Parts: sequence; C-alpha cells; structure tokens
Amino acid sequence: MRLYDTLSRRLEELPSPPGPIRMYFCGPTVYQRAHIGNARPFALGMWLRTWLRHRGYDATLVHNITDINDKIYDAAPGASAELAERATRWYLEDTGDLGLGMPDVLPKATEAIPSIVASIEKLVDSGHAYEAGGDVYFSVATDAGYGRLSRQKVEHMEPEEVSPLKRAPQDFALWKATKPGEDTSWGSPWGKGRPGWHIECSVMAEEAFGPVFEIHGGGLDLVFPHHENELAQSLALGHEFARIWMHNGMLTRAGEKMSKSLGNDMTIRGVIDDWGREVGLTLLLSGQWRKPLDFNRDTLEQSAAQLETFRNVFRSPSEPVGDWAELEAALDDDFNTPQALAVMHGWRDHELLRRALGIFGLESIAHVEEAPAEVVDLAERRREAREAKDFSAADRLRDEIGAAGWEVRDVAEPPGYRLVRRS
Ligand SMILES: [Zn+2]
Repeated sequence: MRLYDTLSRRLEELPSPPGPIRMYFCGPTVYQRAHIGNARPFALGMWLRTWLRHRGYDATLVHNITDINDKIYDAAPGASAELAERATRWYLEDTGDLGLGMPDVLPKATEAIPSIVASIEKLVDSGHAYEAGGDVYFSVATDAGYGRLSRQKVEHMEPEEVSPLKRAPQDFALWKATKPGEDTSWGSPWGKGRPGWHIECSVMAEEAFGPVFEIHGGGLDLVFPHHENELAQSLALGHEFARIWMHNGMLTRAGEKMSKSLGNDMTIRGVIDDWGREVGLTLLLSGQWRKPLDFNRDTLEQSAAQLETFRNVFRSPSEPVGDWAELEAALDDDFNTPQALAVMHGWRDHELLRRALGIFGLESIAHVEEAPAEVVDLAERRREAREAKDFSAADRLRDEIGAAGWEVRDVAEPPGYRLVRRS
C-alpha cells in the first residue's frame, strides 16, 4: 500500500503488514460546534484505520483536542475552560454520530502540560530555544533545514506573530506568558503561562507513540506553520517524528450560501441533521483526499442520489458481479476513495457490496426496509397536503410519521418522498 507524502512530494510505500502503522491526525480547536471541514481529516483517519486493519495491519489512530488557544479565550472571556469542555463534548458527539467509531486515543493539550514543559526545557538547554520576557521561542536559525516541509526559504516566510521579544521574526512561541484577559494558566520555569500550539502536538504525538511514528495527518492549511514547526521541534529534540505526512485538501463552498440550505451553517451537526450522516460521508468519499472538495447543496444532492443507486442494488436480486481485488487496488493506491466508489457502483453481489459499504461506515445502506402500509398512508396524505399547500397539516403528518419511527425525506423522483427508518 502506498500514500502520498507531503515531505518527499511522492508516493511512499508502507511497510508490509502487520506494521505497526501509528497515525496522529491533528484535531480541532474547541470553541464552537465543529465545522464540516473538521469532518474530513476525522473521517479520513477513521477510514484509513479501518482499511489498514482490514489489510492485516496493527493500526492505531490518535486524534488530539486543542483545548488551549487564543480563539477559546476570545470566544469566552473569563470562562474559556468551560467553553473548551462543552465544545469538546459537542465534537465527540458530532463525530460519534458520523457512525465511524472513534480514534484509539483523544489526548487533550490541558492534560499534557508537564510533558510539554519538560520538552521545552530540553530545547532551551540544547540552545534551540530561548526565554524572553516570560515567553519561550524556538530559534529557527538553529535548524539548518527549517522550511523542509512547506518548501519555503526562511526569508520568504510570513511570521506567524510579531513580537519585539523574538530574535528573528520567524521564531515561534513554545511557551506564552499569561496576558490580561486569559483566565487559565500553568506554572513553568519561565513563570505562569501556557504552551504554544505547535509544541502541544509534538508532545501529544510522542506521548502516544514515542519518538517515531508512521503517519501524521491534518488539513493542507496545517503544513505551515503548524506542521513545519512540529517537525522542527521534534528533530531538534533528536527524534525522527513522522515518516509520512498526509495533508487532506480543503472543503470549498463555491459561493453557495450553505447557511440557507442547511439552516445551521456548515457544521458537522447541521449536515447530519439536514442530510443524514450517510450523505455527508458519501460526499467526503467522492473526492480524492488530497484534492479540494466542493461541499454544497448540489454535491450533497448528488451524493444522496448515489446512495439511492446503492439501495436499488439491494432492492434487486443479488447477482455474482463484483471483484474484491478491484476495491483493494483502488484503496491501496493512495487510498483512492472515488475510484473505490466507482468500482462498487459496478457490483451487483449483495454480500460483497455490503462488506465494502461497511468499510466506510455505510452498511446501513444495505438495510432497505419497506415502510408499513399505515406509514405509507401517512406519507401519501402528507404529499397531498403539500400539493394543496396546507403546510400545517403536512407538518403534523411529518410528526406522526416520526412518532411511528420513520422519517420522510423529500426527493425529486416519484412519488416525491422517501421513507427511511429512524436509527
Ligand atoms: Zn496539531
């Protein structure tokens, strides 16, 4: 199996099974309901873990929660810890409802402070970092290869933040002295403060795996400065760190006003509530993980239609059409999920298709249960009420259908609705 690596800029072969394959995928900063963009690295990590295990690997996924950050302080002045805790719960709920299972370990930055301080002390002792005014900065001049991941020359880099305390503008903070308005802080040899974002991830990854692991994942927007700096710190500590860097492409909106169509902006929660988790997952699968992906009403509708063609296979008699090796070829080659979907669309063998859908958390598509006659009757009456523009009656009938354990979804094809068993 091979995967594209940002550092080498080429496809890299994984070691043969059982590996191990240890994966660290950067998680969210928790201060609001998570954006659908956060679902992409989450789902990619979960699918990859499932597939690797299926291929005989000993695969582990660590996905961190960044619960110390300027965004959290800004969003909840005086109550940042409570917000971070609440938003962590939301994230676990929302990603849990994607139905893909959960990562093996979900470390929080607030729980790794002693190890973070110890790592910063080592960097100061070895001359890679310096204290200034209660802050500690990493000195990029001490790393001859700095810029290796994002392939930038130091002099062309945009400094992350400007500070007169820095020796060079590209130096970055490992520790930040407490500022007015920040309501959480921890003790350190440099006074009260909190860790910088990049050192959190270096330390949490190495706490889970030790000084080397196979795959580091995250969004393409993390290459610089976040991952560039993680790598610089860990190399300075004498560690090999990640062997393959996987960066997923960003989700785009193509000018579509998602807030209107989803009613809830483009949050993971909103997509699950308004479209169902299967539609959201199918849309994520439809794009190659490295490329940008348009996540809007049109592409969500296309994914819903794709799912319907899978359901239709289960509504028809099973035929021995399909070859598992084709799926393996697609996924083993840089985890090409759009190609995997194309292969699966050619299959008519129920058992084979059910297994493949199960890899992606979509086994529910195979359960095409017919609604009982009384529920179909309610749905018919609702359709008539809608045609007569009697929307209050239509809403009442929708509630009755819901109370009977079914959900009515409006679709373009006749009869204009589909009845789905509530999970
Ligand atoms: Zn990170």
